Amino acid sequence: MRVILLGPPGAGKGTQAVRIAEAYDIPHISTGDILRANVREGTELGRKAKSFMDAGDLVPDDVILGMMGERLAEADAKNGFLFDGFPRTVPQAEALEGLLIERGQPIDVVLRMVVDAREVVQRLTGRRTCTGCGAVFHEAYDPPQAAGVCDKCGGKLVQRDDDAEDVVLNRLEVYRRSTEPLEEFYWGRGLLRDVEAVGTVDEVGGRIDTILREHA
Ligand code: ADP
Ligand code: AMP
Repeated sequence: MRVILLGPPGAGKGTQAVRIAEAYDIPHISTGDILRANVREGTELGRKAKSFMDAGDLVPDDVILGMMGERLAEADAKNGFLFDGFPRTVPQAEALEGLLIERGQPIDVVLRMVVDAREVVQRLTGRRTCTGCGAVFHEAYDPPQAAGVCDKCGGKLVQRDDDAEDVVLNRLEVYRRSTEPLEEFYWGRGLLRDVEAVGTVDEVGGRIDTILREHA
């Protein structure tokens, strides 16, 4: 199963991706997570990406495509994958398509998570992320049992720098300008399916399952 999760920052892609990856036994490949790991480790890739990420802008396509070419070559991506946060521009989608045609591994479905801008601002500004394991909580919608402490690993929960409100507003504008055109790109290929991304995490997950069962 080869799936792309499309939707604005805060739509709940990461939250749902964890569940889908487990249920279908495919790797959850999040470009944001890979980039943040590189920033933490101070790699050359991390150094190239950091200023763009801090501003809520997109990291240049050539950097992302090099990184994803390597990631797709890893053994666990042979039998499927779930992309979260990639592709994010039409050139990225075109390059991915070329790569997957070469490998004989076309995308099965693109899930567009539909949620309005007001809700995503609430979700992002309240998001808390574990510095230890990367688990995601929300201070109101999905609070941890003890404030500031990860339920899963006991690590420290923090607000991502790019979840500050001014950066969030830029990220939404960047989404509208650079990523929304992908909806037409994938619609034209008959791959786009809409998922109403409001409601509980289980409700949204149920809607996704119904679609993915058609492709399993
Ligand atoms: P994305 O990966 O699309 O940026 P996340 O999965 O990190 O989004 O979710 C953003 C925030 O919204 C997190 O704090 C998460 O706990 C919360 N969240 C995710 N799904 C829902 C939902 N269905 N209802 C309310 N809050 C949600
Ligand atoms: P995310 O975790 O998906 O919200 O991504 C965090 C940040 O990483 C984005 O605001 C971008 O700066 C960068 N990023 C993640 N994925 C991509 C991508 N596919 N193309 C360009 N930049 C990306």
